[in-house]
Amino acid sequence: MTAQYETNVPLAQVAAELSRVFAQRYGRPPRWIAAAPGRVNLIGEHTDYNDGFVFPMAIERYTVVAADLAATPDQISWHCTRLDATAAIDLAAPIQRGEPRWADYIRGVLVGFQRLGCRLPGLEVAMASTVPLGGGLSSSAALEVASATLLEAVTGRRLEPVAKALLCQQAEHEYAGMPCGIMDQFISVMGQPNHLLLLDCRSRTTDLVPLTNPELAVLIVNTNIRHELTGGGYAQRRAQCEQAARGLGLPSLREASPARLDAAQSTLDPVVFRRARHVVGEIERTVLAAQAIRQADWPQLGRLMYASHASLRDDYEVSCPELDILVEIAQTIGQAGGVVGSRMTGGGFGGCTVSLVQAGRLAEIAGRIRAEYQRRTGLEPSLFVTRPASGAVMVQAGPAAK
Ligand code: ADP
Ligand code: MG
Repeated sequence: MTAQYETNVPLAQVAAELSRVFAQRYGRPPRWIAAAPGRVNLIGEHTDYNDGFVFPMAIERYTVVAADLAATPDQISWHCTRLDATAAIDLAAPIQRGEPRWADYIRGVLVGFQRLGCRLPGLEVAMASTVPLGGGLSSSAALEVASATLLEAVTGRRLEPVAKALLCQQAEHEYAGMPCGIMDQFISVMGQPNHLLLLDCRSRTTDLVPLTNPELAVLIVNTNIRHELTGGGYAQRRAQCEQAARGLGLPSLREASPARLDAAQSTLDPVVFRRARHVVGEIERTVLAAQAIRQADWPQLGRLMYASHASLRDDYEVSCPELDILVEIAQTIGQAGGVVGSRMTGGGFGGCTVSLVQAGRLAEIAGRIRAEYQRRTGLEPSLFVTRPASGAVMVQAGPAAK
């Protein structure tokens, strides 16, 4: 039987390969190697920009950067093996957005360090990544956080985890033009093996929740499609949430209880009401899901995940047929077949589903999902399995530049 899902290349192996690429390209081994993971959100979707809770974990997929000082003081040469492209960044002039666009995430992080008063040296960098780009698993935060972790080592300027995550978020806002929440950068910085991170986006406080049961695995299935309306869809949802909060006379939907929202139903536009109902319900479900994991109440966790998906599909309207089909297949396999729960994850309109499954039945579950999805959509899904992984790390730490 061919493998039903991709395996993850261990971080040490990705780093070792990258080290060889670096040496081939620049004629010496790297001095520093830093890595940061992608993430998957177990539950709590479209709650981050509503001051709500999210519940992500780091995945065993990383962006890895290897670097050494360059001979030229004000030049950064940053090679991306994934795209086989190199960005040249000039430090002698103010850093501005430019080509190639993917380097804007890095430029934003460089500027973040400059604003802290750090003088950046010339660098030669090689980068590899096992996070799918644009697949909803936050390759963008992995890129920012890996870059920031490298720069901490290079400059000797250590950042507190929250400050580091916020610097990376700011980079994405200002330099990549994406008004993202704080989830992706927080989890890529703060992830811990065998733990999920319950993150309160209002207070920015975090709570690590253990998921240590080795019999459980997280299965991520990529629909491998992305529907076009995403750009406008996201901004529109955000605006509708703000409208709902204003209508309720509250600073954000975090402050709205289900009862208060119901009482105001007749005063709200029906679409805006449904958007708010998703957010208010999802915030509640996220807190309950963390509790369910703590109590090992898997049937409850499953119910919450399916309810989250239905709410995203019907009230928030950010799902799509391919995601719905994947969740339907998983739900049909059900507890009896080893599936605890399943839902779409990420912004929606394509991307991935996340499922919690029994590790011992993975091959069987993955095989069924793959075959059924192909039969019903004519599309080839990508599947991989992960346990909650570590946040950003230095894989190889040389001395800081002077
Ligand atoms: P996601 O974060 O879900 O993967 P985004 O659209 O937020 O999707 O970010 C994807 C973009 O980030 C890519 O199109 C690319 O510009 C940039 N990016 C992320 N990782 C890398 C990488 N390893 N090499 C080059 N560009 C990358
Ligand atoms: Mg992203």
